[in-house]
Amino acid sequence: MRRAIVAGNWKMHGSRTENARLIEELLAHCPAQPAATCVVCPPFVYLQETGRMLRGSVLSLGGQDVCADAQGAFTGEVSAAMLKDVGCEYVIVGHSERRLLYRESDQLVARKFGAAHAKGLVPILCVGEQLADRDAGRTHEVVARQLDVVLELCGAGALERGVVAYEPVWAIGTGRNATPEQAQDAHEFIRARIGARDARIAAATRILYGGSVKAGNATELFAMPDVDGGLIGGASLKADEFLTILAAAGPG
Ligand code: PEP
Repeated sequence: MRRAIVAGNWKMHGSRTENARLIEELLAHCPAQPAATCVVCPPFVYLQETGRMLRGSVLSLGGQDVCADAQGAFTGEVSAAMLKDVGCEYVIVGHSERRLLYRESDQLVARKFGAAHAKGLVPILCVGEQLADRDAGRTHEVVARQLDVVLELCGAGALERGVVAYEPVWAIGTGRNATPEQAQDAHEFIRARIGARDARIAAATRILYGGSVKAGNATELFAMPDVDGGLIGGASLKADEFLTILAAAGPG
């Protein structure tokens, strides 16, 4: 059975004061043994301090991005080893905001995935189509392209610990989530695509849904058979909302 994951992507939000308040609230109300793995992904500069606050708790730490290269003259970049060094277990790669605003190619994202995997981080690979792609019936084509580059470069074995997040771009931060059926269709497609290379790994890969997940819609999205939790943006900044989403990801 796949253990669900709920990961909060704080994006470029927060401050030391706001983060401390959020983490305090999360730790105060999070069950001692949540039914799903819970991850928070603050901005780089807050990772170490957030990690200190999380130490000994059931919450895990993740980065929002990682450099594809191991070390060297890459001004402004943060390596996988550095993320590990400050206590990260997870890292998001290929978020649509990175792909679209910073022109990250499928190839670069795949290299980032490989770099994270090589250092023992669990990469959370984001894939997903834009609205024009969906309207043109190209959802599977786009997702297959994004996924195949990673499978080619890193091999299906790299997904043994890895996580895929299906995030339709038109649903991110828009308040318009995919329907459970739309999410299930894409997740089933992703699992089959991995399964064409390795059925065992496909069955074990956690596939998260991301895109306007809220306390009010998480239960129906997470009830779909191939949805193994969520990658949460806006709602991860509110402790009560995020914890309700976490509870919705539990078994049953
Ligand atoms: C995200 O940024 O990955 C995301 C899913 O954002 P939101 O939940 O705000 O749509």
